[in-house]
Amino acid sequence: MPAKIYYDKDADLALLKNKTIAILGYGSQGHAHAQNLRDSGCNVVVAELPGTANYDLAVKNGFKPLSTEEATEKGDMVTILLPDEIQADVFRNQVRDHLSPGNVLICSHGFNVHFGQFNLPEGVATILVAPKGPGHLVRSEYEGGGGVPCLIALGEGAGDETRKLGLAYAKGIGGTRAGVIETTFAEETETDLFGEQVVLCGGLTALIKAGYETLVEAGYQPEMAYFECMHEVKLIVDLMYQGGMNYMRYSVSNTAEYGDYTRGPRIITEQTKAEMKRILQEIQDGSFAREWILENKANAPRFKALRRKDREHSVEQVGLQLRRLMSWIDAKEV
Ligand code: NDP
Ligand code: MG
Repeated sequence: MPAKIYYDKDADLALLKNKTIAILGYGSQGHAHAQNLRDSGCNVVVAELPGTANYDLAVKNGFKPLSTEEATEKGDMVTILLPDEIQADVFRNQVRDHLSPGNVLICSHGFNVHFGQFNLPEGVATILVAPKGPGHLVRSEYEGGGGVPCLIALGEGAGDETRKLGLAYAKGIGGTRAGVIETTFAEETETDLFGEQVVLCGGLTALIKAGYETLVEAGYQPEMAYFECMHEVKLIVDLMYQGGMNYMRYSVSNTAEYGDYTRGPRIITEQTKAEMKRILQEIQDGSFAREWILENKANAPRFKALRRKDREHSVEQVGLQLRRLMSWIDAKEV
């Protein structure tokens, strides 16, 4: 069944007229939601931690940041745009007791709601309004008269009236200019985790490292291995982004295209797909979420060790040197 998509004509900003929207966290998403909503005529308050760069940014953008508790008290709609791994603690200690019946809690990723990390008070509904793009794009597209497509989902306590409020909110951040797709908390959370683990972050980095290591172990120069296995990924991905695999294959040589059809399936095999299914199972049955929540409760020792190890990988050392030679790259160093 094709997804239900909402546009500007399906959303009414007037529903937000007498409401205050509290944006908790002025980071990537927070700064975009807050400013877009304000520019759409909404009454917005923001919460940030004093003494942080994003607090200063909020002040520079004309807001007077409040504490999380104060902002929640003021908000009829409260959007939690804090890092996902701290949301449960902040919700329990600083948000829950300051929500009132009739308030709507909005999030931009379903993890905490879907995995039962928020214990919502009576009379408070929750919805997802999630831009499918980073905050800076949500802001710049809006400023240019466009918008980034969004997802909307109804959570606990939410019905048709809450959907209308959610669509109005999505219109306020520019989402309905591009289209707002209806989904569920389960679908958004599970597909998001699956995508980042199997294809986007986990799958891609494992593929790049394995290819790079294979060439270097065979005696090829690390610089050559870097260009082939990492740098050129962007060229290929850009082509697929513009015109799918068909366009990518139309653009590369016939030799590359033949190698693609005959060798690709030897790399991603039936066995790989069986492992993907196991990873999906761990997401669906909550065992990944449990593992990640416990890891954070223990101050993330395994996470930090894994991060340290991969930061020292030779593909990263070589890449750092090579990127400095390519002045057209907006090179970043972590
Ligand atoms: P960021 O880390 O960019 O921003 C979070 C902000 O919250 C930071 O400014 C942080 O300050 C601040 N903060 C941290 N702790 C507190 C606290 N206790 N009280 C008040 N403020 C605090 O997060 P994102 O914008 O990336 O993510 C927010 C939500 O949006 C998440 O649910 C995420 O999954 C979702 N999302 C993100 C997308 C993205 O592209 N970034 C896309 C779609 C959804 P400091 O930096 O000083 O720690
Ligand atoms: Mg409130």
